[in-house]
Amino acid sequence: MTKISLNSSNLITKDQLKEEYLCGLCNAILVDPVECSACKIRFHHKCLEKFVLEIGTCPMQCKKSKFLNVKKVEKKLQKMQFKCRNHQMGCNDILDYNDVAEHDTQCLFQPVKCQAYKYCKTKCVRQEIERHEAVCAYIAVPCIYCHRQIQRMNVLVHEQSECTGTHTCLKCGLTVQKQETLKNSHNCFSALAGYLSNMLDSKDQIIELFKEEIQRKNLLIADLMEKQDQLEGRLVKMEAVLMFDDKEFEEKQMEDVLAEVATMSES
Ligand SMILES: [Zn+2]
Ligand SMILES: [Zn+2]
Ligand SMILES: [Zn+2]
Ligand SMILES: [Zn+2]
Ligand SMILES: [Zn+2]
Ligand SMILES: [Zn+2]
Repeated sequence: MTKISLNSSNLITKDQLKEEYLCGLCNAILVDPVECSACKIRFHHKCLEKFVLEIGTCPMQCKKSKFLNVKKVEKKLQKMQFKCRNHQMGCNDILDYNDVAEHDTQCLFQPVKCQAYKYCKTKCVRQEIERHEAVCAYIAVPCIYCHRQIQRMNVLVHEQSECTGTHTCLKCGLTVQKQETLKNSHNCFSALAGYLSNMLDSKDQIIELFKEEIQRKNLLIADLMEKQDQLEGRLVKMEAVLMFDDKEFEEKQMEDVLAEVATMSES
């Protein structure tokens, strides 16, 4: 259970209420209770966690406290029944302890914000929000042509100006034109068939392109291999020179080789 605001004023059988059922920090009825081993005071797990993380001790400043889950108190809590927190808004449901959190997320009388609350500032009970959102001018709705999300009040302007008029079909992945959307004539099967036949028509051209590309790669490789052969030849010559004793001859040969290498790296 995540909800921790079980207000004791909504408890139906008030005679069930005891101090030990309340959180030592926020005073609401316990959910997920944890007890300090030193002072025996109980807290919401969430309240205590927040406190201990910030302050580092039990809220009563107990030394050497351990915090224990207290299952036995939960048994007592589970016998409680509550009015819905929205009873003043009109919800007459009577809720078991275990059902409160779930009910809060679904209660038709729970005040909720419009999806476009940032702009329209509308907050109303859940059972009315759908009706509001169906007409709220600030809600984003998908343009029927390009499927972009556009604020409802701007849809007409969008259609007449920036709208590209095309969208990608989610089923076939192909582009649907504005005309097709207007006439509702897009058909994934015939669209795909058309696409494939276009592909087949251009297949020879594509194969030609690939052949040319491969030829170019082969020429490049041949060229590189030739360069490598030349370099290896020069390396052999340099090694021969290094083995030779005659100083003068050596220098001469070295110059030749260096000159040769220089011309190579220029090319
Ligand atoms: Zn609490
Ligand atoms: Zn304590
Ligand atoms: Zn309710
Ligand atoms: Zn709204
Ligand atoms: Zn559009
Ligand atoms: Zn399609």
